[in-house]
Amino acid sequence: MSRKDALLKLKSVLVNRRNALRAALAGDLTALKELTLASGDLADLALDSAHEQVTSQMAEVESRELVQIDEAIARINHGVYGACDGCDKAIPLARLEALPYATLCIKCQIKLEKSGRRDWSELSDEAYDSV
Ligand SMILES: [Zn+2]
Repeated sequence: MSRKDALLKLKSVLVNRRNALRAALAGDLTALKELTLASGDLADLALDSAHEQVTSQMAEVESRELVQIDEAIARINHGVYGACDGCDKAIPLARLEALPYATLCIKCQIKLEKSGRRDWSELSDEAYDSV
């Protein structure tokens, strides 16, 4: 499969997941459960609690994931999906398949984690300040 085809496939994964999350946030876990069963490889994303009741904490996690998924879909629509925010290199497909809304390659992610910052824009702001 070409990278382009793989990215298209990831888009449909993201759209399905967004729809399921929206439904789950509305109190309907049926779609999320079905999605969990259908795509075993994505099951560990944030679905550990899918069989439990929707708690406010879970809703918070899902809302955050929903935002990340929305952003990933927007990036796909703008043709910039799959490029690392940090170094502009292509994020390896294996990483995107494990974490479809990743915005950093593993190298930059580690750099970010070591910095103790929450997102890359904070890190780059700091980099600009030190210039
Ligand atoms: Zn990078």
